[in-house]
Amino acid sequence: MSVQTSAVQSADIIVIGAGIIGAASAWRLAQLGLNVIVLEQHHPASGSTGRSVAGVRAQFNSATNILLSRESIAEYAAMPESGYRPEGYLMLIPEAGWAAHQEAVALQQGLGIPSEALTPQEAQQYADFDTAGLGGCSFCPTDGKVDAHSLNHEYVRRAREAGARVLLDTPVTGIEQARGLWRVTAATGTFEAPQLLNAAGAWSGDIGRLAGLDIPVQPARRMVFSTGPINLPRPVPMTFDLTSGVYMRSEGERLIFGRADPSDTGWREGLNWDWLDPTLMLALERWPWLEAATLDRKASWWGYYELTPDQFPVVGWMPSAPGWLNACGFSGHGVMQAAAIGRVMAQMAAGEEPFIDVSPLGIERFDTPALRKLDLQV
Ligand SMILES: Cc1cc2nc3c(=O)[nH]c(=O)nc-3n(C[C@H](O)[C@H](O)[C@H](O)COP(=O)(O)OP(=O)(O)OC[C@H]3O[C@@H](n4cnc5c(N)ncnc54)[C@H](O)[C@@H]3O)c2cc1C
Repeated sequence: MSVQTSAVQSADIIVIGAGIIGAASAWRLAQLGLNVIVLEQHHPASGSTGRSVAGVRAQFNSATNILLSRESIAEYAAMPESGYRPEGYLMLIPEAGWAAHQEAVALQQGLGIPSEALTPQEAQQYADFDTAGLGGCSFCPTDGKVDAHSLNHEYVRRAREAGARVLLDTPVTGIEQARGLWRVTAATGTFEAPQLLNAAGAWSGDIGRLAGLDIPVQPARRMVFSTGPINLPRPVPMTFDLTSGVYMRSEGERLIFGRADPSDTGWREGLNWDWLDPTLMLALERWPWLEAATLDRKASWWGYYELTPDQFPVVGWMPSAPGWLNACGFSGHGVMQAAAIGRVMAQMAAGEEPFIDVSPLGIERFDTPALRKLDLQV
């Protein structure tokens, strides 16, 4: 729905972006009784959410990420629209990283996650792979996948039902702050609110720049390659080979797989087929039986990750801009964390203590880069 009006429309909070993060947040904000306007340049799931591989996992090595995923997966498990399928995530860890990974598994278990450390031989109960160079593996049966499109649309539906005005085909083109209000200009009108939530995914840095703010989120293209139908004795759970960076899982009767190209940043469009061969070579080392698969070019796709310098999201208030909230830069984990982030955003907007401590994700961490640590990034 788009609105043609010249009058300024007021709200308690303006949410920019109706991807899964903006939509889940809008629902929780509206549930609190706040007057919410969501501005979306295209339509729900038109950004990264609709291009996602839609995996959900609580296998991280920071408590913040584990809790955000744990609470989100619990919400998805209770939502028929989520398409949640607990098919598990299998992590294949090289020898050099195994000691640290075991500590991560212990941290997960301490937070109630049913992950387990396995020898490479034991892990063969879940998938067939070559064990060369591996120190160990971990598997978590409540990790799995969801239907990100369906979830995104369901959160929009719930947000509208709770009273939020969700305006589609409404690109934001200008943002300024005056008299304690954020004034947002969009193609179809002007909107004002004391609070603003930047949930624009890979575009969040651009949204910040409209207001003269530096929000370190940049787009990074990711390719997802699909095989044609392949006859396998059992489905492949989402499996990450931390040695090569290649991941793979079953999608119906096909397999999808991919790997990050660290040099592929910026607004580059289209599927980079040059990335296929080097990725496939690495995949074949770990999964030699993949040789039997054909490639389905039409079923392959690409999309933007929304990367921050340390690949942790930017969550919370912008210290230099009163009333400005960020929930962006999820660096490839936004689908698996959206439900919890929606609740956190609503609590912060209402001046309450968030139910998960997201202080490690504040933007001010970039002022002291030495404190930053990488999580289990795949
Ligand atoms: C190939 C690939 C695989 C992935 N796999 C996974 C995975 O397995 N698990 C997982 O959790 N995550 C995964 N991700 C990451 C996940 O997709 C993102 O973290 C998540 O979708 C971020 O949600 P979002 O709502 O912040 O962003 P988006 O879904 O991109 O939503 C942002 C919205 O803001 C809108 N917007 C932008 N600029 C403006 C403007 N000027 N005015 C109005 N609206 C604007 C956009 O149109 C968009 O709809 C993957 C991503 C890719 C590309």
